[in-house]
Amino acid sequence: MTPEDRIEEVISKYQRYVNPGLASLMKFGGFGDVEVSASGCIVRTASGSEYLDCLGGYGVFTLGHSHPDVVQAVRRQLEVMPLSSRTFFQEPLANLAEKLAQVAPGDLQYSFLCNSGTEAVEGALKIARVATGRTRFVCTVGGFHGKSMGSLSATGREVFRKPFDPLVPGFVHVPFDDVAAVEEHVDAETAGVVVEPIQGEGGIRCPHPDYLPRLREICNSRGALLILDEVQTGLARTGAMFACYHWNVVPDIMTLAKALGGGVMPIGAVMSTAPIWQAAFDENPLLHTSTFGGNPLACAAGLATLHVIERDGLVERAQTRGNQLLDGLRQVQARFPDALAEVRGMGLMVGVEFKIKDVAELSINGMARRGVIAAYTLNNPYVMRFEPPVIITEEQVNQAVNAFGEAVEEAVAMLADV
Ligand code: PLP
Repeated sequence: MTPEDRIEEVISKYQRYVNPGLASLMKFGGFGDVEVSASGCIVRTASGSEYLDCLGGYGVFTLGHSHPDVVQAVRRQLEVMPLSSRTFFQEPLANLAEKLAQVAPGDLQYSFLCNSGTEAVEGALKIARVATGRTRFVCTVGGFHGKSMGSLSATGREVFRKPFDPLVPGFVHVPFDDVAAVEEHVDAETAGVVVEPIQGEGGIRCPHPDYLPRLREICNSRGALLILDEVQTGLARTGAMFACYHWNVVPDIMTLAKALGGGVMPIGAVMSTAPIWQAAFDENPLLHTSTFGGNPLACAAGLATLHVIERDGLVERAQTRGNQLLDGLRQVQARFPDALAEVRGMGLMVGVEFKIKDVAELSINGMARRGVIAAYTLNNPYVMRFEPPVIITEEQVNQAVNAFGEAVEEAVAMLADV
């Protein structure tokens, strides 16, 4: 079979058996190829092309693809016991939970391990309700917390919510980075305020420095829990182990996923303090469970990931490479002030806001043709995101910035001709 036939066959299976609309979207975006292998920052496809991955699986590939230490840890576990009997105590789970408690902010101590970000958020919502005896949540417009019914109720984008109404009751959405709006809505019925420290899918939006500290104060004074969703921002991505460290804020509940599996295994986690865990689970320790959650392979990956982040100084690396990327993109912005509204972000969580959506779409396609993977944010098609592996080199950042500059120049010229 030629590479072309192989690609055609896979795409046609997507069209017939997976999701025809998605297949069209992927082709239109310039990704009409089939991935076959990946290592570090490079993804290789069936046509023989190599791509620099500046999307990083929406925050999954902080360590890059197929990190050897994580692969080795998973392989070792695979050979002895891939899944738990679910009867005995399990060492990888115990070790990962201990390590998470060591690195987590403040007095966050207990972890429930699950398989994805949305499950972590489901756990957070349930724990907040049962621990406080309250039912309502204050969330943010443009916030993204997942697409299962509970997390979707917290997600602040109508296009994903509307088809599934009625969602879980008791969720109100207020503008992001608006302290007064939170203040207005947190009352004696509020179980928690659910917020991403930096909105990811909402368009890489960083809050004002006093936003999270003020939310902390409001929650403290009204007996609501502060739930920080660090699924995308956590684990070195923003140039801090957790984004909440930028503002010295400690949440009551924190969710993690994406990067925790080291780009090798799916895993999620919800963490909280001893008193909250006690209030939630003391009466019934089986109140919230998952058959595959905390499985030994995922936990082995999580433990190896935390080890690599610390050993290789990935927090500092995200700061250095992030500053380089921000500088480079801002230079491109200065060349195209009519097309590019803003370059923003922290560490290697960077967004470029376009003034025209079509220029953004064409630029993503143009970057793909230049061998660089980028994408826009799910809740904001005006913002192109850069979330490359934190192990990205100086030369690769330059390559990404050059490809971006060329792609924007081309897109602007194409639209001028229309
Ligand atoms: N929370 C945040 C902040 C996210 O960015 C995402 C996914 O993008 C989720 C939750 C949901 O994670 P998952 O897709 O693993 O369910």
